[in-house]
Amino acid sequence: MAASFIDKARISVRAGNGGNGAVAFHREKYVAAGGPDGGDGGRGGSIVLVVDDNMSTLMDFRYKRKYVASNGMDGQGGRRHGKDGEDLVIKVPRGTLVRDAETNEIIQDMSGQEPYVLCRGGRGGWGNMHFATPTRQVPRFAKGGLPGESHDVVLELKLLADVGLIGFPNVGKSTLLSVVSKAQPKIANYHFTTLFPNLGVVWVDEGVSFVMADIPGIIEGASEGAGLGHDFLRHIDRCRLLVHVVDVSGCEGRDPVADFEAINEELKHYSADLAARPQIVAANKVDIMADPENLERLRAHVEAQGYTFFAMSAAAHQGTRELVQKIAQQLATLPPVTVYEPEYVPKPYVVDDSAPLDIQRAEDGTWLVEGPWLQRLMGNINFADYESRMYFDKCLRDSGLFQTLEEMGIEDGDIVSMYDFEFEYQR
Ligand code: GDP
Ligand code: MG
Repeated sequence: MAASFIDKARISVRAGNGGNGAVAFHREKYVAAGGPDGGDGGRGGSIVLVVDDNMSTLMDFRYKRKYVASNGMDGQGGRRHGKDGEDLVIKVPRGTLVRDAETNEIIQDMSGQEPYVLCRGGRGGWGNMHFATPTRQVPRFAKGGLPGESHDVVLELKLLADVGLIGFPNVGKSTLLSVVSKAQPKIANYHFTTLFPNLGVVWVDEGVSFVMADIPGIIEGASEGAGLGHDFLRHIDRCRLLVHVVDVSGCEGRDPVADFEAINEELKHYSADLAARPQIVAANKVDIMADPENLERLRAHVEAQGYTFFAMSAAAHQGTRELVQKIAQQLATLPPVTVYEPEYVPKPYVVDDSAPLDIQRAEDGTWLVEGPWLQRLMGNINFADYESRMYFDKCLRDSGLFQTLEEMGIEDGDIVSMYDFEFEYQR
């Protein structure tokens, strides 16, 4: 069944590339006398995620799947720095998990206020103004900008609510939510009315409130993927307490004890953890109850299992106030809503790219080395750190670069320059 509610989406994001450094000389072009004054390229824009509380689904991501931040501008003469690329801010509903599309590991749980930088923009390359030395006064080269990071991610919405309502369709979950909070969920006397979760804030007392989530009805077999249920159960994953609503009116010829067990069975299939979550059982529709025997059987059944039991009529506002008080009391004893820890660790760089490096000899004898894999590798190296530098050295050695340079006639003391890094060659 196609639900109109979108709570999972795969998107590709790419931060902007850094701008290139400029080759320029003061005063007149091609007259070196004035000295190099080529400015640096600007930094590429980053991809930044922020929580937007006005969003409640991932619907927008169904229509737009590619997000690219703008590139940094190239540097210019006169030491002018290229303009930085603008960050691209992507809004997501609160409770969105960001996962790596390949491994499914959690990168970030968007539950708090903090913006999250998902992909960093590439650094701008240095202009030639940085490369003048006593022995090299006419640097006719500048560094290219580094590429921005990119990532394929899956967004998955897991609502942030203290209390989750569970129960068969049509038992009165939405009615209960509308009665105890200001939320206005759709209420109708047929199954599957609720196609997307509703959140409501329940005010209990001065300074005491909680968030309650109404999710679409769980149907039998839902945890095996038979219907809507499975997708929606993830929305109560974080809930600290479940309120299990059971219809005891007997109107639809249902047996409340069997219903209660069937729902718990579904929870178990979905996750043992969720099945073990504390539950309060609320027997609803007592105002139109045909046979009080139903109510008492259910009461005996659930109390024997240690659950707290309430009889109410959501529609008639009977017993709802007491239920809310009980929920607040229990919540005060339970741990806070789960926030997921990041699991994703960026993979170590693997040098397996076969595209050959581009090696050029600059006028002043500097060896300029560039290439896509080198550029990406350098984006991940912290040159202030000894071990990172050793790792970098090993990657270069393994790639055969030094051997190639030897064959091309490099000598000890020559300068090798790659992007914004240079060193003196020693055999
Ligand atoms: P949900 O599918 O569990 O969200 O159920 P709804 O809240 O949409 O309610 C289904 C139907 O039961 C609606 O027609 C409600 O008006 C009705 N209903 C809900 N609670 C009560 C109640 O306490 N007494 C009676 N008589 N009807 C109720
Ligand atoms: Mg409903």
